[in-house]
Formats: sequence, structure tokens, C-alpha cells
Amino acid sequence: MQNATIKVALIGNPNVGKTSVFNQLTGLNQQVGNYPGITVEKKQGICKLSETIKAKIIDLPGTYSLNASSIDENVVIELLLNKKDEDFPDVAIVVTEVENLKRNLLLFTQIKDLEIPTILVINMADRMQLKGIELDIPALEKELNTKIALVSSRKKTGINELKSLIINYNSLSTEPCLNASIIDPEYFDNLRRAFPNQLLYKLWLVITQDVNFLNLERNEIKNSFTKSHSDLKRLQQKETIKRYQFINDTLKIGQKVDKTKATNLRAKLDRILTHKIYGYLIFFGILMLIFQSIFDWSTIPMDFIDETFTSLSTYTKNNIPAGEFTNLLSEGIIPGISGIVIFIPQIAFLFLFISVLEESGYMSRVVFLMDKIMSKFGLSGKSIVPLISGTACAIPAIMGARNIENWKERLITILVTPFTTCSARLPVYSILISLIIPEERVFGFLSLQGLTLMLLYLLGFGMAIVSAMLLNYFLKLNCKSYFVIEMPSYKVPMFKNVALNVIEKTKSFVAGAGKIILALSVILWFLGSHGPSSNFKNAEKIVIQEMTKNKEELSTEAIDNKTNSYKLENSYIGIMGKTIEPVIKPLGYDWKIGIAVVSSFAAREVFVGTLATIYNVGNHGEEEVTIRKRMAAEVHPVTGEKIFNFASGVSLLLFYAFAMQCMSTIAIVKKETNSWKWPLIQFVFMSGFAYLTALIAYQILK
Ligand code: GDP
Repeated sequence: MQNATIKVALIGNPNVGKTSVFNQLTGLNQQVGNYPGITVEKKQGICKLSETIKAKIIDLPGTYSLNASSIDENVVIELLLNKKDEDFPDVAIVVTEVENLKRNLLLFTQIKDLEIPTILVINMADRMQLKGIELDIPALEKELNTKIALVSSRKKTGINELKSLIINYNSLSTEPCLNASIIDPEYFDNLRRAFPNQLLYKLWLVITQDVNFLNLERNEIKNSFTKSHSDLKRLQQKETIKRYQFINDTLKIGQKVDKTKATNLRAKLDRILTHKIYGYLIFFGILMLIFQSIFDWSTIPMDFIDETFTSLSTYTKNNIPAGEFTNLLSEGIIPGISGIVIFIPQIAFLFLFISVLEESGYMSRVVFLMDKIMSKFGLSGKSIVPLISGTACAIPAIMGARNIENWKERLITILVTPFTTCSARLPVYSILISLIIPEERVFGFLSLQGLTLMLLYLLGFGMAIVSAMLLNYFLKLNCKSYFVIEMPSYKVPMFKNVALNVIEKTKSFVAGAGKIILALSVILWFLGSHGPSSNFKNAEKIVIQEMTKNKEELSTEAIDNKTNSYKLENSYIGIMGKTIEPVIKPLGYDWKIGIAVVSSFAAREVFVGTLATIYNVGNHGEEEVTIRKRMAAEVHPVTGEKIFNFASGVSLLLFYAFAMQCMSTIAIVKKETNSWKWPLIQFVFMSGFAYLTALIAYQILK
């Protein structure tokens, strides 16, 4: 028998456990990308159903119904209406959960009416007993005219049954649940006559939805069957009522709920966690715990990674025949890779915490709690998610703003999110903090360094809020917004979901930003180890002449050091750094920091990598030296003062807190706002503000 692949679309309301079911079916065989042209995340994976049969599972964005109100929901409709799409499913799986069957089934009836074979998954079966829910599956199957898999993705039950339903998808009925024409018989009869070969419900979706639909002449349909906006709304409401009537009748037959079992634990927890004082205190406490842990826990693997790569670099230099290639390896490529790998512990820890907060249901309480405050600043309660996930990286965070329906709130969120402290700032912060803040504890347990880090996070956050207020005041966009948020029940996070999320986020960082970092490291190495003039080539000769003239002692080490620093000064990079020195000198930076500042326009984390490269270049033949030690030892050639002192350190911290030092963010903002205007305004404002604050701080502190 030939190997077959069945195309499966996974569809469902948010929070029903769709991702968990997807993870159970596909495990690590997942791929995350984007839909072409838009930045909605596209997740797909392969599931082995039998020796010869596989399923390609597409995890569609969570949606409440086929009446789309966001770009994410449009994706679902566009795929399901377009038979020519390469991902058009052979079978759809609608995931629902035992506690919210009534609401979840609305989407099921809509999908089924598209006459696509549709399997119903009822997830979270493990909660039935607790909630006093009984289901008569054969009766439900009969009423809904399909096959049902009763699944618990937590307890891993029902997954095999689901797989065999997928294999046998051909035997599923494609009868619709609702006869669309009962909404308005006359109108639908005309529609049927005009397009006899098309499905009525499909035509209806084309008329009511704003989707790019390729196969049907959308305008033709719309023009000849126009109705006023209010008429369309009225008919859509009628459709929804009819669907709920059908669902109620079905559940009367197939579901029994023992109301006395409803526990009030959730209500109690909700009261505390969304309390107007305790709620914020708890949230603040949790945030603090997270940042302390990230700082404390990541330093161990990070130091290990730093030292390992430094040794590797030294080893390469000492054991491979000297030459251009060895230099490229030991000074360009190895430090470059190190600059990527060193991020992994922090990103992993951060996403560990974020996924646990999301998985447990707490994140929704945070959104609820924050909406009251956020709306004052022109943001939505939903903005808290981009703002918080911006602590990992602004790129996914800005993409995450997409589920904010109101354009003005969304735009403001996009524009201010880069102020939140992303993980790329962390390496810059942690190295600078460890250089200028003493390793002391206050009250016996709070580390001063950890507190400084938290302060920087709050600063970023505060700046985001203040700029949001300004934007809210100046932006003259008129959009009304209605706040709707679902409160899922509290759950113990599922290990598999958390782990896969951490792996996926880390992978996407390495593949995305990692490439830029590596490429830049190599370019920087080249710019730092080559120069335009003969001074660079004849560095050693010139240095020896100079030293002899000054009657200095001519030890090999002294000659090497002088030659290297001379070379560096005359390299391309040295020339660039010196050119901008007048501009950055008032901030307390020298030309080497200047180079790092310029090159980290690409991405903030490049700052540390660049310094590593710059200092390594001037470091031939020396003992193993870590970048931190190297920075601590750096002194002003004339005054002998430390380069990374308190004043310049604070100035750098502020510069990196506020400046828009990230090409990828600019690119994503351009994409999301569909114009160059916004990213440009954002860039000028952020970097200008950063320069000013860094300048003021240094001038006061020096
Ligand atoms: P999605 O939003 O539909 O993708 O839902 P997720 O897969 O993220 O799950 C939402 C929440 O439900 C998470 O807290 C999961 O741990 C939890 N969950 C998922 N499946 C089950 C299940 O079978 N039983 C229980 N008790 N919880 C589940």
C-alpha cells in the first residue's frame, strides 16, 4: 500500500486545549512559520497514524466562530473556503472542552455546514467527574451526525481513538447541521438560483465576511446580493440563535450536569487574584520572583557557556596552524556562536515562566486586572501580553498585539512595546550591572544587582506607559473598543505544553536573531582585523620603531600588545569608532564603545559580542580571559581611569534601556503597520530620548 498523508485542520475556541491536543498528536514533529504576506503564526506538524498512513496537522488560530473579527480568524475562513489551497483539509477536527460544550459547539456547527468531514473532539474528559458532567457519546454522535473522540490531553486518553477516527475520515457524514435558508428563505432561494453549483452557507460567508476569496467572484455575489449592514447583522444574529437552538436540543439529549458539583474554589481564587489591592501585590510579587530567578539561575549556565567558548577559542588559536582561517574561527565564528548560545538560558527561563502563567489560567486574570489601568493610557488590557512578552523579544510581542481588535490601541501597543526590556538587553545589562553594582545583599536576601535589574525593567515599562499616554493624546484616531476576555478555569500547567513552547521560542530565536548575530560577528571580525592604510600592514614595524625611539623595553609581550592595539586603531572598525567619538564622548564612551554602539544598531546583544571581538582582537596569545574581566580591566590610556565606571555604566544602561537598537524590530513594525512612517517615528523618538538621558546621567554622575 502506498504511503498516504491525510490533511487535517485543527480548529477550536481559545482555551479549549487545542494546542495540547496538537502537541499530543505531533510531539516534537512541529514546525512554526508564518502565513504568506501576514504575520499570523502558522503551526503544523506530522502525526503517524499507522505504518503507512500519516496526517499533516495544521493548527489553525483559535477562533470563536466563523464570523471573523480579527486577522487570525480570517486565516481560518480563508483556508476553509478555498478548496484550491494546498492545505485545504481532508478532515477538520473541532476541539471543544467538557465544561463549555454549549459555546464551543457553535463553531462546530459552522464548520460542519461547510460540508467538510468534521470530527468532534471533546477535551478535558478528566474534569467530568469533578464537575459532575455526564455525556452520552452515541446520542451526541447521532444528533451531531459525526464521530466524537472523548479526549483528555492531560491524561493522554482518547488520543488513539482520535487517530483511528482520522484514518477512517471517509466514513464521516458531510450533512450540514443547519439549513442556511431558514434564516431568510426568499433571499437564500435567489442566491441558490444565481449560483446553483455553490454551497449556500459558503455563499453566505462570502457575503458577510471580509475575506479574500479566490474561487468565487466575490464582488459579483456581493453586488447582486447586497443588503444593508444592519440587515446583515440581523440575519447573522438570527443564524446564531438558530444554531444555539440546535445545540441546546442536542445537549438536552446527550449531556447531564450535576449543578451541585460546581465548586466555588475558582470564584474564591478569582476574588483574590483580581482584587484591587492584593491582585496587584500578587502580580508584582510574581514578576519580582521571575526576574530574581532569571538573574540568579541563568548566571550559572551563562558563565559556563562564556568560559567554555573562551577556552574553545584559545584552544583553536593554539592548536590550529596560525593564519587567516584560524583567526576567522577563533576571533569571528566562535565568539559569534557564543554570543547566540549565551542567550538560551535566559530565553528558556523567561518562556518557562510565561508559559506557566498562561497555562495556569493566571495570565487571563492579569489581563482582566490590568485593563482598568491600561485603558487610561490608551492601551487595552490585552496590551499587557505584548508588553510582558516583550520581555523576551519585541518581535513576537509586536506580532502578539494582533489580537487587539481596536486599531488605535493596537498601534500604540506596537509603538511602545520595544521599550519593555527584551532578552537582548539582558546580556548588556547583566555585564554592565556586574561591573558597576557591588555584589551585596540588602535585608539579607535581596541582591543589589537583582534589584538594579528589576529597576531597569520597571524603567522600560514606565517609559512604555508614558509614551502610550503621549501617543493616546496626540494620535487622532477614533476607534471604539469593547473589552471581552475569557476567564479559563485554573489548571496545573501541562509539562509537555510548557516544554514545547520553551523549545519552540528558543529555536526561533537561534534561527532568527542568531543568524544576524553570527553574520555580524564575522563582519566585525573582518573590519577589526583588516585596515585600509599601510599603517595597518606595517603595524609591528612602526610599533618597534616607536618603542626603540622611546627606549622602551622590547619584550615580545609588550610588542604584541602594542601592535594589536595599534592595529585595532587603524582597522576599518577603529576608523568608524573614532569618527563618531565626538558625538558619544559627552556620554562617557570611548571609540571602542562607539564601535559597539554602532554595530549594535543591528541588535542590542551585539554590543557584548562586539566588545568581545574588539578586545579579543587586541588579545593575541594571552591567557584565557572572559569578556567581563576584559571590560573590568579596560582603562583610559591617558588618565588611567576605568572605562566602565559608575557614571559611564549608568549612561550605557540608560542608553540601552531606551534606544531603538534593533533592526528586526523596525522591520516587524513596518510590516505590522504597513508603512515606514511609524517605525521611523519610533526610531527617532526612542534613540533621541536615549541619547538625552544617557547624556544627562553621565554629566551629573561623572
Ligand atoms: P488552546 O488555547 O486551546 O491552545 O489551549 P491550551 O492547549 O493552551 O490549553 C489551555 C489550558 O487547558 C492549559 O492550562 C492546559 O494545561 C489545559 N488543558 C489542556 N488539555 C487538558 C485536559 O485534557 N485536561 C485538563 N484538565 N486540562 C487541560
